[in-house]
Amino acid sequence: MTIDKPREECAVFGVFNTQDAAAHCVLGLHALQHRGQEASGIVSTDGKDFFQRLAFGRVGDQFNKGSVIDHLVGTAAIGHNRYSTSGSKQNYANIQPLIAELETGGLALAHNGNLTNARELRTKLVRRGCLFRTSMDTEAVIHLIAVSEGETLHDKIVDALSRVEGAYSMVLLTEDALIGVRDPLGVRPLVLGQLEGSWILASETCAFDIIGAEFVRDIEPGEMVTITADGVQSSRPFGNSQPSRFCIFEYVYFSRPDSFIQGRHVYDTRKRMGEELAYAETHDIDVVVPVPDSGVPASLGYAQALGCPFELGIIRNHYVGRTFIEPTDEIRHLGVKLKHNANRTVLKGKKVALVDDSIVRGTTLRKVASMIRDAGAKEIHIRISCPQWIATCHYGVDTPKSSELIATTHTLEQMPEHFNVESVQYLGIDALYRAVGETGRSAPSPQYCDACFTGEYPVQPEETDDPIVQVHTLSA
Ligand code: SF4
Repeated sequence: MTIDKPREECAVFGVFNTQDAAAHCVLGLHALQHRGQEASGIVSTDGKDFFQRLAFGRVGDQFNKGSVIDHLVGTAAIGHNRYSTSGSKQNYANIQPLIAELETGGLALAHNGNLTNARELRTKLVRRGCLFRTSMDTEAVIHLIAVSEGETLHDKIVDALSRVEGAYSMVLLTEDALIGVRDPLGVRPLVLGQLEGSWILASETCAFDIIGAEFVRDIEPGEMVTITADGVQSSRPFGNSQPSRFCIFEYVYFSRPDSFIQGRHVYDTRKRMGEELAYAETHDIDVVVPVPDSGVPASLGYAQALGCPFELGIIRNHYVGRTFIEPTDEIRHLGVKLKHNANRTVLKGKKVALVDDSIVRGTTLRKVASMIRDAGAKEIHIRISCPQWIATCHYGVDTPKSSELIATTHTLEQMPEHFNVESVQYLGIDALYRAVGETGRSAPSPQYCDACFTGEYPVQPEETDDPIVQVHTLSA
């Protein structure tokens, strides 16, 4: 069954100076599972050697045995949850963290984001004799570090990153240091936490809660922190000149609602998106129904601002697993009913506002709307708590081609007929900015990356058709 949502990118986690490094890493990755479910990996170090475990599948299934934790020896570790946005999914070598032996010693690296000049870098590095073992953009960074003529590892990393473009939040592990770095625009998140004497880096603050760590601060755009036995050292190797362009869609959908980003509670910002939708409402609404679970916070804000009842008009079956096998064509066509069912008693004869956080292709929402109609709703009004997706993301989010997006195949006026509903409304771009605490989108210098809604890319995507050799490995 396909889920009609942009796919989360990836998660990174790192911990330094604790006897429970591997266990904390497992728990942190578990809390960050929503950012990638395809594969996970952990690399730990005891200050001399490195220990690695990589696996396809979810953290809870693959890192749940004491023997796995026992194998990951040491007081520092980094981990990664993967949803592939770059490179072949089937390639075991594409599971991060990557690890290499350099002139300066061992180095493990985990990356969230997407490098927009990766192919150009790869071509140049291959010409120089670098042997790539993966099809990921991330590997180019390891090679750039390896071939750099910088004197120290810090110099080599800075030299390497000064050659890459695009979005990256990375955690790196050496025998004696944990390093975290964000790209100069700060497109993807990275936060610093502390637990007693240990330091933690993570994609989101929800990873701190699970191990009882305290949030310290966001790693700033363009900042590199080096954590050693002497504490945390911060540097700004790329200067401070560029304004931040954090991904605004992290607030809409990617981040967990209980996380804080840039001091803002994600759940609260999603409720405010719903409130902004309500301020623009022109129809009579009897009942507000979320698309589970993505539409719930915005629905609550919308219902409270309108003074309308909020009801669970669609019930989600939480037990549809990844391995569910649709046994016959007759069953397969039921599609969305495997996962959702209409709750007739709250829908019959009502004017229903059906709220979700985003539409990509619109396939699932069309089926959900039809289900609500069949349950006897008098009117259906689709309300979406972000602007229309009109462009592909090039910064680490897996989205369809622009030509497959509902907002490019249908005008707003055509959508009610397409979905067989009375009306469709999206949140405006200025209202989205207000919901995240700004006064509006200040063109030509918006405070966030919003390219998927505006088509204005803060870093121009690479235009190349150079093929990358894909390796498809048969895994158990
Ligand atoms: S294009 Fe959209 S999803 Fe991608 S980084 Fe920018 S705001 Fe986020």
